[in-house]
Amino acid sequence: MITLTTPHQIQSWRKRLPARGSIGFVPTMGALHDGHLSLIKRAKKENALTVVSLFVNPIQFGPKEDFARYPRPRRKDTALLKKTGVDVLFAPNTKAMYPNDVLTSVIVKDLTDTLCGAPSSRGPAHFSGVATVVAKLFNLVRPTQAYFGLKDYQQVRIIEQMNEDLNMGITIIRCPTVRDSDGLARSSRNTLLSPQERKVAPLLYAALQRGRKLLRSPRKMSLREFRHQIKSTLLTIPNVKIDYIELVDPKTLHKCESPRAPALLAAAIRLGTTRLIDNILVTR
Ligand code: AMP
Repeated sequence: MITLTTPHQIQSWRKRLPARGSIGFVPTMGALHDGHLSLIKRAKKENALTVVSLFVNPIQFGPKEDFARYPRPRRKDTALLKKTGVDVLFAPNTKAMYPNDVLTSVIVKDLTDTLCGAPSSRGPAHFSGVATVVAKLFNLVRPTQAYFGLKDYQQVRIIEQMNEDLNMGITIIRCPTVRDSDGLARSSRNTLLSPQERKVAPLLYAALQRGRKLLRSPRKMSLREFRHQIKSTLLTIPNVKIDYIELVDPKTLHKCESPRAPALLAAAIRLGTTRLIDNILVTR
């Protein structure tokens, strides 16, 4: 595995590659787990070369968010990537990625100001930070295929839209959410949960599954009642704070006016100081 740490290094590496042969790219913020590994293994299977980036992107964190606290087990991550057979690790530091003030920002309208991008949640600046760094990484790596997890469904939709609108020509591959055996979606932030919080965290997924059951049941109910049912499951979690529960159109992410399928059911909660998100796509 080659490790590169500056935009200049990865650009020169990329320029020297022959034009033929596919490049699979998996952007991550590190603290790698089985969710990340599922994307990386798929990229390896489907491409001649696999590039993984490790970069905790400061511009996607709000001033009150957990940028400083975000786990960074860099040595362990590097060893895992080597063992998995990744060809290139791109691990820049903040100064390498943002040497000067960033005057350019990628804004994907409409998709970024709902769910996690709502002003009452992380706000739309979060996803312009994500889109901007992914655009930079795409320009540096110039992959043929890029792999994203459906755990961050809104993020995948935004990247797909950016890729299409800006004619980036990359094939975006959606990968299923990897979960622990009790249903909790794997996340780098899970390591920040206390043992008690970890025990009750799977109730987030349980609430979404309850929603799926309700959406598929023949009994008609109002959106208000539907949300109330899910909320009551979430509120059984001690000390939980509900950030949002939303039922949205899977493409536009616009809120559904009544409980129906197909739809994306997404929720975000806070357990103590840790924020968890999850979603399920409900088909008919
Ligand atoms: P992150 O390091 O959290 O920015 O995630 C990097 C990539 O891994 C993103 O495309 C995530 O959606 C994906 N990912 C994170 N957790 C999971 C999971 N549990 N299952 C599948 N993909 C995941």
